Amino acid sequence: MGKAMIIGCGGVAGVAIHKCCQNSAAFDEIVIASRTKSKCDKLKEKLQGGKTKISTAQVDADSVEQLVNLINEHKPDVVLNLALPYQDLTIMDACLATKTHYVDTANYEPLDTAKFEYKWQWAYRDKFKDAGITALLGSGFDPGVTGVFSAYALKHHFDEINYIDILDCNGGDHGYPFATNFNPEINIREVSANGSYWEDGKWVETKPMEIKRVYDFEGVGKRDMYLLHHEELESLGQNIKGIKRIRFFMTFGESYLTHLRCLEDVGMTSIEPIEFEGKKIVPLQFLKAVLPDPASLGPRTVGKTNIGCIFTGKKDGKVKHYYLYNICDHQECYREVGSQAVSYTTGVPAMIGAMLVMNGTWQKPGVYNVEEFDPDPFMEALNKWGLPWQESFQPALVE
Ligand code: NDP
Repeated sequence: MGKAMIIGCGGVAGVAIHKCCQNSAAFDEIVIASRTKSKCDKLKEKLQGGKTKISTAQVDADSVEQLVNLINEHKPDVVLNLALPYQDLTIMDACLATKTHYVDTANYEPLDTAKFEYKWQWAYRDKFKDAGITALLGSGFDPGVTGVFSAYALKHHFDEINYIDILDCNGGDHGYPFATNFNPEINIREVSANGSYWEDGKWVETKPMEIKRVYDFEGVGKRDMYLLHHEELESLGQNIKGIKRIRFFMTFGESYLTHLRCLEDVGMTSIEPIEFEGKKIVPLQFLKAVLPDPASLGPRTVGKTNIGCIFTGKKDGKVKHYYLYNICDHQECYREVGSQAVSYTTGVPAMIGAMLVMNGTWQKPGVYNVEEFDPDPFMEALNKWGLPWQESFQPALVE
């Protein structure tokens, strides 16, 4: 039993909050705190009446002072950060000041660069250790479940893992010519950046969308997928024994890519502020304002996601392949919690990470990525809380 404070009340938080309420044996109390309090109140109204006690608050998570006051007022056992990556460090600072455990799903990014690096948060390792509190980084699906899958594969199936290919397929169709499935600003920053993969201890950089492969995904069918940089490549490259190469691929349809190319060509995806009618605006933030809100895609999205990792390594001196993946249906998620599968596949592991930190199973003073903990309780919880995993010992490999 424990009390969690959830910061942010967007697509991912909405799912995590539903799941905390379903899991009232672990979460007997939650506080939902975000920039727009009305969104928190709306969710409270929908979910209250169950066993989990819900309260709400307004907070600007860019302000350490406001966060510290809020945490001191409510005294949660864990803070689950589901705001945006820009708020990671202020929330970590507030957790340090109040000695409260911290969990997030995306690594810190300064507003003016799109680098997806852990260095800023890893710099907090000693501070968290000295304070005797745990920071669990990247407890979503990717990063998150992909790291848990890697730790599980290494624990149960390999002596060493040499190659990992992470495949993220969204076979969903929302019927719009162009929309993003999670925060458009973060999503477009991620896909318009250069690609890269980790090989023999160093990064190999590619142009955006330079490397394309086709893969036949169970539950979805054949899809084009493209190599992207993704934040878990950095931590898995360091934490998984024997790794020689790790790559990340995500599927994109032709329409999405054509629109994105056009938006890039006219400068709409830039994060450089421009002068507009006497005011400074960031083109990408303006674009976000005119695109469909990801939270509104739920009722319209049909189809499935299939996300997982293909491992190649050695067991008892022999080469072995192993594929761990989850298939999730957009409409089933919508019926259960009112969101599409991209928010669902992130919100469920966020709840699980917060639960494991809160109940002590994954507590260790310091700052850690998910693959640094015992994967078994997390894998069990995935099956229980809506993201059952499947395995294959003879997967098709990616060239
Ligand atoms: P949304 O934009 O839907 O939600 C973000 C929420 O944070 C909103 O409620 C927003 O408030 C709130 N917020 C933003 N800034 C502040 C602030 N300064 N103070 C307080 N609240 C603030 O994003 P998503 O739910 O799609 O994504 C949430 C996080 O999950 C992101 O960090 C994203 O990168 C991560 N993610 C991780 C994935 C994974 O697999 N690991 C996959 C998908 C997402 P308001 O309502 O006022 O706008």
